[in-house]
Formats: sequence, structure tokens, C-alpha cells
Amino acid sequence: MKKTEETKKPFTVLLAGNPNVGKSTVFNALTGMRQHTGNWTGKTVSTAKGSFREKGSDFELVDLPGTYSLSAHSKEESVARDMICFGKYDAVAVVCDATTLERCLVLVLETLEVTNKVVVLVNLIDEAKKKKIRIRCDKLSEILKVPVIPASARSNKGLDEFRRAIDKMCRDKREYEPVFSYEDVIESALNELEINKSFDNRMLRLRLFMNDADFIDTFEKSHNIRLSDDEKLCKSLAAVKKSLLNKGLDNENVSDTVADALACQSRKISREIVDSEKRDDSFDRRLDKVFTGKLTGIPIMLLLLSLVFFITIYAANYPSMLLSDLFNFLGTKLRGFLSVAGMPEILISMLIDGVWCVVTWVVSVMLPPMAIFFPLFTLLEDFGYLPRAAFNLDRCFKKCEACGKQCLCMCMGFGCNAAGVVGCRIIDSPRERLVAILTNNLVPCNGRFPTIIAIISMFFVCSLSLKMQPIAASLILTAVVLLSVVMTFLTSFFLSKTLLKGTASSFTLELPSYRVPKLGSVIVRSVFDRTLFVLGRAVLFAAPMGLVIWLLANIKVSGLPIISYASDFLDPLGRLMGLDGVILLAFILGFPANEIVLPIVLMCYLSGVTLTDSADLSAVFSVLSLNGWTIKTGICYILFSLFHFPCSTTLMTIKKETGSVKYTVLSAVIPTAIGFVLCFAVNLIYNLFI
Ligand code: GDP
Repeated sequence: MKKTEETKKPFTVLLAGNPNVGKSTVFNALTGMRQHTGNWTGKTVSTAKGSFREKGSDFELVDLPGTYSLSAHSKEESVARDMICFGKYDAVAVVCDATTLERCLVLVLETLEVTNKVVVLVNLIDEAKKKKIRIRCDKLSEILKVPVIPASARSNKGLDEFRRAIDKMCRDKREYEPVFSYEDVIESALNELEINKSFDNRMLRLRLFMNDADFIDTFEKSHNIRLSDDEKLCKSLAAVKKSLLNKGLDNENVSDTVADALACQSRKISREIVDSEKRDDSFDRRLDKVFTGKLTGIPIMLLLLSLVFFITIYAANYPSMLLSDLFNFLGTKLRGFLSVAGMPEILISMLIDGVWCVVTWVVSVMLPPMAIFFPLFTLLEDFGYLPRAAFNLDRCFKKCEACGKQCLCMCMGFGCNAAGVVGCRIIDSPRERLVAILTNNLVPCNGRFPTIIAIISMFFVCSLSLKMQPIAASLILTAVVLLSVVMTFLTSFFLSKTLLKGTASSFTLELPSYRVPKLGSVIVRSVFDRTLFVLGRAVLFAAPMGLVIWLLANIKVSGLPIISYASDFLDPLGRLMGLDGVILLAFILGFPANEIVLPIVLMCYLSGVTLTDSADLSAVFSVLSLNGWTIKTGICYILFSLFHFPCSTTLMTIKKETGSVKYTVLSAVIPTAIGFVLCFAVNLIYNLFI
């Protein structure tokens, strides 16, 4: 190829690998992007693209979802399979984990059934060294007939060589050649099949024997042909299948035989190339005994959760106060400045009492807890704790006839429910995936956490000593989170017994080794990827919403602000739920983003009046108390905040993931109904007994 041609069109390289082998780390290191990486299975659920340059040529790197094989049991696996089997590319780079090479080799061998344009990266060599595992990459390269590069992607070791190997492979004009053989019966069947050369590969031949309808269907669509129209192929396929059947191999037997052969082959290869002294994972095992022990697993999980909340609440207090003072000061100065500049009073009020008030609330109340909660959560994730939490909760989910992996989606939901819903792709069974999607919103996302913390601080712990407040608040918050988890179990159980009947499937959850988290990258990742992203979104919605609410609260029709008509209308229902019309209205207006519900409540109560210090909780408390809030209102507010319709982004994501209006509506109706019933019950009990 001439140089000028080379530089025109970038080479396309697919990046494949089992989950948790460091694929995102490699992708980020090569492309300079900051895709989220984490130490738990299956978080890359959609493809990301990035580019890099090597020797003057451009390369487009496509990060495929982590997959153990090309058999496509789940949605994410089929994305990877489709790209490798049917996509157009110049090379496939398969990332392997040096510490679990035998399992990773299955994917490498399967990929080699489709193409020889493969580069293998044996990552986590540093971890392997620690575990006294030595990999002979040269020997592996000889066996597979493709380049094999050892690397430690986290410290950028081996990646230059990897880039060079990719560059070379993309230019390589090698003919396809199989690297290993199955047992004779299958091999002769593979050879007998008469298939058009232009799209032939061993993977396709095998799938035809197995009658893999999904594979064949996708193949036909991607090539825009119908294999059943090819008479020669059909005839030879019928003959081959007959001879296979005569030898006792039906569709399923072929699949099993092929899977066994792959596993057998990778075991054989790994025996040849891996030298390991007795693996020293005693430390991991000891930790696992504590973190996943029958007696200790769940209590430690609750303890860790309370600890994270305690640190968040305790440490967030002071910066929250500082920010609130700062915004107060700035607000007053800004008001004075605008007044001096001659801006009409009504516009000043609109800007300061509307936009400024809501935005500063969101920033000063949300930023500090988020900036502390996210890094702590990411530290646990990086350390390898989250899969252990999933393991602990697996039994409970099984009892509810749901999938244990749902715990991981639930954990993602604590960050953002929309992300949690997308994360449900890691669940193989469509029924269990739906259960997980429909219940994801039952755990509070970060948009709801800070407001719940604020309500707890104002209504439940303010009578305690200053020292005791954060401890009590973190325990109450843990109880709130527990309630949401219990509700997730109950709803999953209810759905599995009614709408989404079926039994729970079993799954293998990989418990990765514990890793010392990289503090620097944890902070960068949680601050940039999560905190600023979420805050940016909140402010984006809060600013225009502040303006809308101000207008609704200040434009009067027949002497009453518009907002009071709406809140009066909702008031009877609100009262029935231990709330009031204003709170219900705020939840409805807060549909774009949960974080702005409480600021809306405040603005409605104040309609026309100026709140001098919106971010100071004692000022907020007095406004709420003046408007009839009691502990009961606090409890009902928290309950409805936990259990109500998802925000617009999450709903849109649910529609996209399920492709069904029915399930999207259901995902809003279920939590709202739960919230309504719980609030109604609390209100009734409170009025009867207290
Ligand atoms: P993916 O699921 O395959 O995308 O894996 P990630 O890139 O998210 O990596 C999983 C974990 O392995 C993260 O905690 C990474 O920091 C860590 N990791 C990645 N590469 C290396 C490496 O070469 N050495 C070590 N020790 N850890 C690594």
C-alpha cells in the first residue's frame, strides 16, 4: 500500500477480551481517552471508539464489551460476537489476563476461527509476577501463529510494542489458516461443506452445523444474502448433518463437542506456556472468608455502607456551610451590583430569587457529599469489593427468583439509575434483565441522596449533640438504603411471581483478585467522570427550572400565583400521603432531574418572598416548619423520594433498553404506587397513634 493511501483511511482495530482483563485501561492508554474503568465484571456494556497514530497511520480502536466467548449468551456478548464475526476491520486485538490465561485463551481460539489477523496482549503481567506465574509469550506466539505481547497496561508497559504489532498486523496480507483442529468427525464435516469463498470461515461452518439461528440470521443480515437460497450449500449441509447424525452428533452435541474442544485446547496450550509455582492467593482467600463469609459478609457490608455514609455526612458539613456562606455573600453583592447598574427590580428578583437561589442550592448541598461519596465508592469498586457484595446478596436475589448480578446494576443505580439500567445488559436472561430494569429505580441515585441527607439532618438528628449528629444521620441513611434494597427484593419477587414468571438462572460471578486502588486515578475518575458530570447536569436543569418556577410563583391570575392553582389541585392527594400539594407539584416539576425537587418546594413556599440564605439548612428548616412540615412530612418526603417515577433520563433509557412502552410505563407506575401506599400508610398510622 502506498503511503498516501495509508494515511487516508484509518485502520479499524477491534479490542476484545474477557471482562475485567484491563481492556478499558488498554483502550484509554492507547487512545488517551478517559473511559470509565473499574474492578468488576461487565461494566463495559457498549462499544466505545477512540483513535491513535502509529508510524504516520491512523488507527480507529473499537472497545468491545467484555465477553468470555463468541457464543453470545447475553446482549453485550452478541455485540462483541457480531463485530468480530461480521464486522469490517483490519485486525482484532484480544486482551488476556495473565493470571487467568487458560480461560482467556478460549476467546482467542474462537477469534482465530474467524480471522488470523489477531494480536494477543497478555496483560496484568505484574500481577502474574506477584503470584509467581510466568508466561512464555514467545511460545504462545509460535502456537497461535500471531504476535503475543506481554504487558502491564496500568503502568504503560508493553503498549508501544503492542501498537507496533497492531500496525504490522493491519498491513499483513496473510491467508486464513486454522490454528487448531477439532476431533476428526467435525474436521471432516468442516472440510466437506461447500460454501461460497467470499464469506467463508470456520466459525460460520460450525454455526451451520449447530443450527445457530441467531448467528445465521445476523450473518445473513450483515451480508445481505439468504443462505437458504444457495442450493449447493444447502445440499452439502444436509449431507454433512446427516453424516454427523449417523455418528451420534445432533445440533446440541456438536455445540458441546466444540465447546469441550476449545476448553481442552486452551488447557493444553496453557499447560505448555504457563509456569506457575504454587499460586499464592492465601491473602485473597483470607479476605474473602471475612468479606463473603456466611456470618460476616452481610454485617461487614452494612458496616462499610454506614462508614461510607458517615464519612460523607461528617466531612460534607463544613464545606457545605462554607459554600453556602460564599454564595450568600456573592448573592448579596450581585443583587447590589445589579441594582446599582439600574436593572429593574423584577428582573433582579427573577435572576437572584429564581435562578441563583436554585443553582446555589444544588451546588452547595450536592457538591460536597458527592465529592466525598463518589471517590469512596470508587475506592471500594477498585479494591474489588463490589463483586463480593453481589456474591453476598446472590442468595437473596435467587430467593426472589432474580439474578445475583442484579446487585451490580443496583450498585450502579446508587450512582445514576440511567447507568444502572444500561448496566442490566450484563444479565443474560431477558426475563431477569427486565426484573432488574424495572426495579433499578427503587434505589436512590446521587440526585436523591443529598436531599435525603438534608431532610435527615433537619428533621431527625438536629436535637442531638453536634458530635452524635453525623453518626445518627449515617445510621438512618443506612436504614433508608436498606429499605430500598428490601423493596427491590420484594418487587423482584412479586414481578417474578406475576408478570415476569420464571425460575432464576445460575451464573458464574468472577471474583477478581483484590487490588490496591490507584488513589490518583480514583480521584480523577470520580471527580471528572461522575461528580462534575452529575453536577453539570443538575445545574443545567436547575437554572432554567429556577426561572420557570419563579415565573409560576410570581405571575398572578385573579390575585393568586399560577403555582398555587396547581398545588391547590394536588393538595388533597398530597395530604392523604402525609405531604402537601406543593411537594407533589415539586416532584412533578422535578421530573427532568431529582436534585431540584427540594429547591422547587422552597421556591413555591416562598413565592414572592426572598429566602436570604437558601443553602443554610437552619433557614430552610424554618421555612419548611412554617409551612407545616413535621417529622411525619420528613418521613413521607423521604419515602416518596425513594419510591416515585424515574427521572426523564432514566425513563428514556428504559424505553431504549426494553424497546417497550408498556415496560417503560410500568417502570414509572411500580415505584410511584409503592411510594403512594407507603406514604398513605405512614400518614394513617401517624394520625391514628401520634
Ligand atoms: P475491563 O473490564 O477489561 O475494561 O478492565 P479495566 O480496564 O476496567 O481494568 C480492571 C482493573 O484492573 C482496574 O482496577 C485496573 O486498574 C486494573 N488493571 C488494568 N491493567 C492492569 C495492569 O496491567 N496491572 C494491574 N495490576 N492492574 C491493572
